[in-house]
Amino acid sequence: MFANIIVDITHEKLDKIFQYRVPSNLEKRLKIGMEVVVPFGRGNRKTKGYIVGFSEQCDYDLAKIKEIIGIAEKSVAIEARMVALAAWMKEHYGGTMIQALKTVLPIKRQENLKVKKYVRLLLDETAGREKLDFYLNKNQKARARLLAALLDEGTLEYDLVVKKLNISRTVIRALEEQGVAILESEQIYRNPIQKRAVMQKEVAYTEDQKKAIESIWQGLMEGKEGTPESREAWLIHGVTGSGKTEVYIELIDRMVRRKMQAIVLIPEIALTYQTVMRFYHRFGDRISIMNSRLTQGERYDQMMRARNGEIDVMIGPRSALFTPFPNLGLIVIDEEHETTYKSEQVPRFHARETAIARAKIEGAGVILGSATPSLEAMYRAKTGRYGLVVLRNRAQSDASMAVVHTVDMRQELKRGNRSILSRKLYELMADRLKRKEQIMLFLNRRGYAGFLSCRECGHVIKCPHCDVSLATHKGGRLVCHYCGYEQRRMQVCPECGSNYLGEFLAGTQQIEDIVRQAFPQAAVLRMDLDTTREKNGHEKILSAFANEEADILIGTQMIVKGHDFPNVTLVGVLAADMSLYADDYRAGERTFQLLTQAAGRAGRSHKPGMAVIQTYSPEHYSIVSAALQDYDTFYKEELHYRKVMGYPPVEHLLAVLLTCQEEALLKKGADYLKMFANRLNGRGEMQIIGPASPSVGRVNDVYRKVVYLKCQKYDTLIEVKNKLEQYIEINSGYQTIRVQFDFDPMHVF
Ligand code: ADP
Ligand code: ZN
Ligand code: ZN
Repeated sequence: MFANIIVDITHEKLDKIFQYRVPSNLEKRLKIGMEVVVPFGRGNRKTKGYIVGFSEQCDYDLAKIKEIIGIAEKSVAIEARMVALAAWMKEHYGGTMIQALKTVLPIKRQENLKVKKYVRLLLDETAGREKLDFYLNKNQKARARLLAALLDEGTLEYDLVVKKLNISRTVIRALEEQGVAILESEQIYRNPIQKRAVMQKEVAYTEDQKKAIESIWQGLMEGKEGTPESREAWLIHGVTGSGKTEVYIELIDRMVRRKMQAIVLIPEIALTYQTVMRFYHRFGDRISIMNSRLTQGERYDQMMRARNGEIDVMIGPRSALFTPFPNLGLIVIDEEHETTYKSEQVPRFHARETAIARAKIEGAGVILGSATPSLEAMYRAKTGRYGLVVLRNRAQSDASMAVVHTVDMRQELKRGNRSILSRKLYELMADRLKRKEQIMLFLNRRGYAGFLSCRECGHVIKCPHCDVSLATHKGGRLVCHYCGYEQRRMQVCPECGSNYLGEFLAGTQQIEDIVRQAFPQAAVLRMDLDTTREKNGHEKILSAFANEEADILIGTQMIVKGHDFPNVTLVGVLAADMSLYADDYRAGERTFQLLTQAAGRAGRSHKPGMAVIQTYSPEHYSIVSAALQDYDTFYKEELHYRKVMGYPPVEHLLAVLLTCQEEALLKKGADYLKMFANRLNGRGEMQIIGPASPSVGRVNDVYRKVVYLKCQKYDTLIEVKNKLEQYIEINSGYQTIRVQFDFDPMHVF
């Protein structure tokens, strides 16, 4: 066996990889990312290097190849471990070593330090409470909310106030003018979260929580005490509010007490002020947060604070995964199913797998949490790779789940209702408006290509080979975005003969018009790309809705995540099918997750909530099980589909995306690549599909093609990727074609 090794990373030629022979006594012990000692250069100087891959055959002169001396001693520098991670990422996701290193290593500090602002309370407790009552009496909700938070915390970071508490600048100014609070600046390279004393809240864990904590802790400790942890990760499956966050906090606390650090990944949209505060209350200013609004310099500072041991817990979105902690004990990934955990840039890594790889390198543990776990995570839990714990109930006894109604829109049509609002939804809306409670209308639409469906029987036109919907293209064509299959658009439904066949075209704007007509007395807000274009457009709309300045909020999926609106007691999902028939094998999963989340929006507080799901396919398992909030049934059905069709997680899918400015050259190149892939497929392990034109075939005059490779073995796909990379490098005729790899892609291209 031979190992590919990056030697001496401090030098610039990072992409140069050397091959060494693996001595037989080390064969079983060496792993990708390990640091080894090798002879290097003419004098065979003993040098440290990192294993970035293995291969059976020798790519160089067999007579001259040198042998690995041994595994490097312990106490590796943090940067070195991150390099090992970069190597793993390059191997598993493609791209260059430089691209991988840029992803994992913090970027250099910027010289000018930015100034950070804080809002500080000026009143004492009694005066503050009086003022709070005053605001509440005058129904000045935003002011009351800010003051209540200040009474709790004393000082708040300005960014948190504006962006997470949804308080506008005007409100802060009003408090300043009234002498209630003051806006202050401070140099950073300090704590972004500055607070007074830590309040430790005592929680009596539920039985489920106790079980979760103890079994995960035991598993993690097995891993620490020399015996290798038998599981790659732990999955906590628990509905929203079941107390997952408390479990994370307890386990992190135990790690911190053992002088280890933890990373908590939370999708940015869910990284609310309240969540950060819960961590703050347990760990004080030993925590830091990372978000996209930090400048590169601020990011670098946060990374350095971590490396220098100034903090124990880093909370943030995907990029926080690369926090250089000296003694990493735990990585938590909350809302593990979120698509934002997959990078859209090369290397197109998934935070879940990358976290597990990092944890292996550094001897840490990984915990995944979700109310609707991804098929990947649950499949691995059920097949024993991950440990599984379930939190069955809400932790607080008075919180209830929403009641969900499903409305069959085909029946509405039959009864002469052509409106986008079903009668059930209309009635409930009228009722909520009368009671002065709030409503959210959620249009389940993504940037997907349209598809063709029958309004009378609900039938959707699908690819006969791939079992995903065919996308409608200009010129009356229907196209499969996986295999390239095409057919002419038909005029009548092949299922029932109806000629009421069409594309679903309604947008949020049209819905707003319809709602305004139906309920002229209601105040309506709309949130979509148009209304959020201006700076902070998002926050403005959400804070207006939180302040109950509107009765109805209409929006796309951006309104279902992250925010809590206690006065919302009705959620309407319009066209639940839209995401169901996206031309994508994950469509059913995405739909289930979105509908479950949407239903979860209603009735977060003591007021009981209701959700109405309007659909043309009420019998589809994604919709049925979302309405029943029955994950297990959904999982069974969806896994069956993935098994039959050979999609992830049962098999693996590698998308090879080719882009080029010359259409003809691209076509030739894609065909060649497919031919070469066919040649690599001697054992017939792979299924090679395409080349297909992606849903957006051309972006900025750059043409795109995709070849999909399907295989049961992930490792085979990695081998093929490596050979394709070499092949591309050699073929100078195709230099202008760019090739990107995406393993188990989150969506169709
Ligand atoms: P999740 O992360 O699963 O959504 P959380 O940990 O946020 O759940 O818990 C939901 C709510 O229940 C929070 O307000 C939390 O403070 C509270 N909570 C969690 N565990 C308990 C407990 N054992 N006893 C009382 N309240 C709890
Ligand atoms: Zn039909
Ligand atoms: Zn197809």
